[in-house]
Amino acid sequence: MDIRNNITFFLRELEGKGCRLVAVSKTHPPEKIKEAYDAGQRVFGENKVQELCAKQPQLPADIEWHLIGHLQTNKVKQVVPFVALIHSVDSLKLLEEVNKQAKKVNRVVPCLLQVHIAAEETKFGFDEEELMELIQSGKISALDSIRIVGLMGMATFSENKEQVRSEFKKLKTLFEKIKTMELPSNIEMKELSMGMSQDYEIALEEGSTLVRIGTSIFGGR
Ligand SMILES: *Cc1c(COP(=O)(O)O)cnc(C)c1O
Repeated sequence: MDIRNNITFFLRELEGKGCRLVAVSKTHPPEKIKEAYDAGQRVFGENKVQELCAKQPQLPADIEWHLIGHLQTNKVKQVVPFVALIHSVDSLKLLEEVNKQAKKVNRVVPCLLQVHIAAEETKFGFDEEELMELIQSGKISALDSIRIVGLMGMATFSENKEQVRSEFKKLKTLFEKIKTMELPSNIEMKELSMGMSQDYEIALEEGSTLVRIGTSIFGGR
């Protein structure tokens, strides 16, 4: 894989579209990440806490690290000091733990709420009803060391483009609906994280502001 070329390609793809590239570097060594960095990429996504914490100190300090994978409450403490955005918050319990640990290090940590939009069964992500319930519960406003800045979702892993599109549309509709609601000051709908290597073009058309691309930049895992 020509990482430099791939980064250049994606930066051009996204130009003028109001969408940023999260280069998903999971399983790839720091040297490969440095190649992407040298091509101008500054936002990287990892899905495992241990791997993220091992790589972060080995790479330039101006990298914006995003956690995109499932986060267990007992690992929150390790990422909160430096993480720029957590894409994968899927419970109130997790939000409360991020809030608690962020307060200890005097940070306000930006988070996205992960929504389950795919047809596939998964235990991760809020469904629409749970999401609305949480937002309307009034329980978030007290969490003053977190900031909810949007939603994240993963479409069904499928060749069926219309299915993928309808799932992204569903997430975008939810995003717009929440935007119109009366929200506490620590919720602001501005980021919509959707789209990966195989479906980013559809995600862009449906209003993504953050695409998470791994394979098409770094090659297979
Ligand atoms: C691995 C991963 C990606 C990137 O997937 P590719 O198909 O390699 O682009 C995006 N989002 C999440 C949550 C991931 O775990």
